[in-house]
Amino acid sequence: MDQVVKTDEEWKKELSSEAYRVLRQKGTERPFVNKYHDAKEEGIYECAACGNDLFSSDTKYDSHTGWPSFWAPLAKDKVKVILDKSQGMIREEVVCVRCGSHLGHVFNDGPKPTGRRYCMNSVSLDLIK
Ligand SMILES: [Zn+2]
Repeated sequence: MDQVVKTDEEWKKELSSEAYRVLRQKGTERPFVNKYHDAKEEGIYECAACGNDLFSSDTKYDSHTGWPSFWAPLAKDKVKVILDKSQGMIREEVVCVRCGSHLGHVFNDGPKPTGRRYCMNSVSLDLIK
């Protein structure tokens, strides 16, 4: 897969300020007031920064957390999981494997069959129906 490498200035120019804050500065959007937390449409969720296919609506479920949640990525090599020790917590950060942008975190309280909850930011995703 081709890597997407851009300077911070380029990202800043291309992305909205909220998308830049989340994707490039590892921010978190507010729960429940984001675009996809309640979305039921079928399609593929792409990385909002580079267009990499990340998640399918087939694995999306309602976690009642206020963020779009999935129990698995489209394929294991679509995302990268990194240990995140910021903010006094140990969490698993999820980034796009193609452009390195921050997508969200993954937790171990998801449904079967994986038991994983990929808790994503809507602003990091684009739903292609
Ligand atoms: Zn990406």
